[in-house]
Amino acid sequence: MNKFNIIKTKEKKLHCPTYGRYPLAVKKAKGYKLYDFDGQEYIDLLAGISVCNLGHSHPEIVQVIKEQAEKLIHVSNLFYQEEQLGLAERLLGTTHLNRAFFCNSGAEANEGAIKLARRYMQKIKNKDKFEIITLAGSFHGRTLATLTATGQDKLKEGFSPYPTGFKIVPFNDITALKNGISEHTAAIMLEVIQGEGGVRPLHSEYLVQVQNICRENDLLFIIDEVQTGLARTGKFWAHQHYNLKPDIVTSAKALGNGLPIGALLTTQEISEAFGPGSHGTTFGGNALICKVAEKVVEIILRDNLAEQTKDKGQFCLNIFSEIKDEFPDLIAEVRGAGLMLGIELTIPGHEIWNKLLKKGFVLNLTQEKVLRLLPPLIIPEEELVGFAQALKGILAETV
Ligand SMILES: *Cc1c(COP(=O)(O)O)cnc(C)c1O
Repeated sequence: MNKFNIIKTKEKKLHCPTYGRYPLAVKKAKGYKLYDFDGQEYIDLLAGISVCNLGHSHPEIVQVIKEQAEKLIHVSNLFYQEEQLGLAERLLGTTHLNRAFFCNSGAEANEGAIKLARRYMQKIKNKDKFEIITLAGSFHGRTLATLTATGQDKLKEGFSPYPTGFKIVPFNDITALKNGISEHTAAIMLEVIQGEGGVRPLHSEYLVQVQNICRENDLLFIIDEVQTGLARTGKFWAHQHYNLKPDIVTSAKALGNGLPIGALLTTQEISEAFGPGSHGTTFGGNALICKVAEKVVEIILRDNLAEQTKDKGQFCLNIFSEIKDEFPDLIAEVRGAGLMLGIELTIPGHEIWNKLLKKGFVLNLTQEKVLRLLPPLIIPEEELVGFAQALKGILAETV
């Protein structure tokens, strides 16, 4: 048996079978390349699902991990830690918001946002408001509350009963949203571009209208930037493309470039709803991860990665559109912003995805038909051209 099969067989005996894994065991990763146990090299167009935006084992990140690990890793949130302040200052500096809460994942950041919205309405506004409205096709996490908020039924099967106080309305439909609001609605939560849902952008007019509706009805506007944040779409935050001013922004994925961290950002007024002891986490925002995340934000700003990502994304949309014109029967749509890109096929995409993997391109297939690209933001354009050529070759065989 080769190494891959040994690992695969062993895992079957050790793990809960929660994952449908790709037929690849990664031995090491550097920059935008992955390597398997046979020494085969892959171009990484996924970045650990938009996590390693700076590329794998970025030398400055490795250096910070080494230095901070020698100094202080974890003491718990019972203590003041300077490292948390460095990250909070840097991260808040990218937004219109001025208070931060650190946790460990995207689901936890969204769970915190839901709790904060409810508590703000109940404790500060003295209103019986608790309901969170989200959109069909959304993805907000796997905890019971965030799963209930998620607009994809297939992920929810067998986990009932679900927590109450959530309502899902159709995507990009302002009338449906208005009709969904009740006297108990506390907040509207959405992704500017749905990621797991298939790289589906919301219309700019829709987003502006949602913000207005929140203001008119005293609802909190929560934007889940777990996937779209940290320069992924060509701005530091995706909501900045439309000058939106959400009340709460959640972040995770790329914030630690591979180490786990989540963040909730909000205003001072709303943050007051969380008094001491009302919410917390053991690991959240420990010294090591905060020092790493601070460096991540610093590098994104210093190297102007948002601007570069915008240009690379436009370049990709252009070359993918040419492929679409060449294969109109196979490609339905090319969409996205920055390096969050989707190529929607007209047919189930598993075979095409598998051929791309065999040619050394790692990417994701979501919603069965959407080839999803989330490459490290540092990827050179020539590698994206290489991918486009490989895709063209495969499509030509498929016709
Ligand atoms: C990945 C993701 C989450 C969940 O993050 P985890 O770290 O897996 O809990 C939530 N929202 C969006 C938009 C995501 O892409």
